[in-house]
Amino acid sequence: MSSPGLVDIASLSLEGLTAFVTGLGEKGFRAKQIYKWLHQRGAISFDEMTDLSKELRTRLSTAAKIVHVTKDLEQRSIDGTIKYRFKTADGKLIESVYMPSPERKTLCVSTQVGCAMGCRFCATATLGLMRNLTPSEIVSQVHAVNRSVRTEEKLDKTLRPLTNLVFMGMGEPLHNFENLKAALQILQSEDGPNFSHRHITVSTVGLVNMIERFGAETDVKLAISLNASNDEVRNEIMPINKRFKIADLMEACRKFPLKQGRRITFEYVLMNGVNDTDDDAHRLAKLLEGVPAKVNLIQYNENPGLGYQTTVDNRAERFRDLLDRAGVAAFIRANRGRDIAAACGQLANTENDRTFTPLGKRGAKPPGATPEGGEPASPDP
Ligand code: SF4
Repeated sequence: MSSPGLVDIASLSLEGLTAFVTGLGEKGFRAKQIYKWLHQRGAISFDEMTDLSKELRTRLSTAAKIVHVTKDLEQRSIDGTIKYRFKTADGKLIESVYMPSPERKTLCVSTQVGCAMGCRFCATATLGLMRNLTPSEIVSQVHAVNRSVRTEEKLDKTLRPLTNLVFMGMGEPLHNFENLKAALQILQSEDGPNFSHRHITVSTVGLVNMIERFGAETDVKLAISLNASNDEVRNEIMPINKRFKIADLMEACRKFPLKQGRRITFEYVLMNGVNDTDDDAHRLAKLLEGVPAKVNLIQYNENPGLGYQTTVDNRAERFRDLLDRAGVAAFIRANRGRDIAAACGQLANTENDRTFTPLGKRGAKPPGATPEGGEPASPDP
């Protein structure tokens, strides 16, 4: 049950937690103990914090709460991918996807319940934006998955704690920038999960007004969900392009402060007859001139009802070869979790009837949904 007057202690930075703890009349060093319980061990109750006195635990529970998500459903793909459905304290459902490979264990993390960006090919878009996730809810997806795989790793050797994070789940991360930034600070903390900046990627549809801040205030990797080589097609499939044109987006990418040796990843979902022609490949190569870039080509994962089809195998290969010949590093990304609807653009909390109504064809729109042909309804931060 939610308790509105209590401080959401797992959203606080170590500095914030120190201020909170000293405000209770406790010594500041207690804050680090509590922070480690929350973010190294993933504690979800004060009772677990056994090196704190019973009296302090009781005082904490009257002043603060540990906001976290709870596993609601788990689906396993034949390729080892696991889709987790989590429930928030107020009953909202979100999804996160665990993708194991021999080299790394990656989690695709959600940052919002639903999404306001309205990408026409995406199942999440059909939900509209319900609300932002708090820093604690973002971080707790990582803790919950680690907790789950740790209980099973003795039985299944492919399951190991997370090494990498990609913010490509439900929602547009830069549309919830303050909470994303607070979550990244916790996830990268030495007193928390201690993820390296090299192992975290944040993907955006291209909120040009936020990319500069993202570059200035975080040090993790940037991915752009591009998906078109000209404004006409991008306007059609990604309404955000009506506000931020491709030229403005590429300009923001050219100015983005890249650490040495780093490149920006451009995600390009190939849809049959929409954006997968030879001309598209040539235009894309031209767009990327002067940008340290790599392109991930993703064969579209079809969502019933949305009307787009995946490209065919040999088209994806030709597209990659054309980019290669133009000097652009391009890779066809293996599709993970297609059989459990855990692949890119398929997250929508729908177990049974997976036929979606495109945003532009519905009578009523959910709160925060993109107006037809327009920009996202809620203002950018
Ligand atoms: S592709 Fe990403 S940004 Fe676009 S609607 Fe789906 S979740 Fe939102």
